[in-house]
Amino acid sequence: MNANHRSAPLNLDPDEFRAAGHALVDLLADFLRGLPDRPITPSETPEEVRRALDAGAPLPEEGEPAEPLLRSAAELLIEHSLFNGHPRFLGYVTSSPAPVGMLGDLLAAAINPNVGAWRLSPVASEIEAQTVRWIAELIGCPPEFGGLLVSGGNMANMVGFLAARAAAAPTVRTQGIPGDGGPPLRVYASTETHTWIHKAADIAGLGTDAIRWIPVDQAMRMEVAALREALDTDVADGAAPMLVAATAGSVSTGAVDPLFDVADLCRERGIWLHVDGAYGAFAAAAEGAPDDLRALAHADSIALDPHKWLYAPLEAGCVLVRDVERLRAAFSYHPPYYHFGQGSVDFVDLGPQNSRGFRALKVWLAMRQVGRRGYARMIGDDMRLAKRLHAAMSRHPELEPIASGLSICAFRYVPEALRGGEGEDRERRLDALNEALLERIQRSGTLFLSNAVVRGRYALRACIVNFRTDEADIDAIPDLVATMGREVWAEMRGAGTR
Ligand SMILES: *Cc1c(COP(=O)(O)O)cnc(C)c1O
Repeated sequence: MNANHRSAPLNLDPDEFRAAGHALVDLLADFLRGLPDRPITPSETPEEVRRALDAGAPLPEEGEPAEPLLRSAAELLIEHSLFNGHPRFLGYVTSSPAPVGMLGDLLAAAINPNVGAWRLSPVASEIEAQTVRWIAELIGCPPEFGGLLVSGGNMANMVGFLAARAAAAPTVRTQGIPGDGGPPLRVYASTETHTWIHKAADIAGLGTDAIRWIPVDQAMRMEVAALREALDTDVADGAAPMLVAATAGSVSTGAVDPLFDVADLCRERGIWLHVDGAYGAFAAAAEGAPDDLRALAHADSIALDPHKWLYAPLEAGCVLVRDVERLRAAFSYHPPYYHFGQGSVDFVDLGPQNSRGFRALKVWLAMRQVGRRGYARMIGDDMRLAKRLHAAMSRHPELEPIASGLSICAFRYVPEALRGGEGEDRERRLDALNEALLERIQRSGTLFLSNAVVRGRYALRACIVNFRTDEADIDAIPDLVATMGREVWAEMRGAGTR
């Protein structure tokens, strides 16, 4: 007698599950087909969204059937969301989600392996290990690199940071900071570094004052001479350099730090080199990428974001380390002999999480669906589209390219009246104008950009990590921006003269 006689309200009869699932997939297929014709965002106010949700409604006392519930939830989401899967979504560093990854998340949830322990997730743990190996291979790192998937770039950077901390101060895990009264730990990062480093320095107990900000050159790359000086000064003062955080693909302009030179310096001084490649590291797979990405293999740890340039649905970050034992030394609470001879990996020992979901599946499926060659092509196309946009900006009389790197093009709108001038007053007006213009662009629903501040100036920024964007989308941008720019400028002048 195998039938289950308990009628738990959460259970779905397999036939109900099938019907609800098919209906949902049908609805999503239609959504994907119609996506390019929808506004990128409905631009609603928080009040409007709360009203649509009936946000103040109390917790329902009784439940409702799953199929209509899923349908209405899908409709709610489709009507009131911003779509980063839209071909003209070019904001931040957020990619279109791979469809196979959408289905992969469903499959992962259905099997529901706990990828903290091999015993609880035999094949899922092996798939994660293979995914990590493939990621290392894709960016040109040798097979000794290992690691694990985490929620995103911030977590990947933090895991690398904590591994460096344990390596620099072995007593820190038992005694905390400053531990045995050893020298204060210092970390080094360029002024273009993403804010993850503030959070990491804070959470790791160093405090943000432990960050030494290294200036950048005209190309927004870390100045290696300044890094050397900062190291010398701190060592002379009795501090201990714990890590250098280089960036491979800055969020503002896609700049890649001079990784070969930084790696040489770190090796010379015996300092942990961490590379934040959350955005840019995957470009190493494509032709036309900056040479310095070939130095990724010299890093001690690398943060990557499959939910950026591998186009995985959120969330999927990845941290790679040259020596996986460094992760165990930073996170495991078992004696090392506990693991030897088991021939399997328990990811609980390599990172901060205990129970872990099967994030790897969606990434692994996409890598199998398109292969190395598919990724090289898509990433290369994204970079070519950014160059195409940059060239179009240079030709347009009202648009001014500001910086371009990897798949980013930063630029601004300059009305005819302000063309060719200079001075602080002009710059302030251009900053204000472009800030207002970005607001208008984002609300328009026809294009979504974000901003960058480059050498103190406010810029609009397109970042193409979107396999749906094509040349027609790119070619439409200059006129779209210029048209809205004229409107905003006219309003500003109208308001100014009255
Ligand atoms: C996106 C990004 C991060 C943060 O990654 P999340 O996935 O948003 O946590 C860190 N550094 C760089 C360079 C990034 O582009």
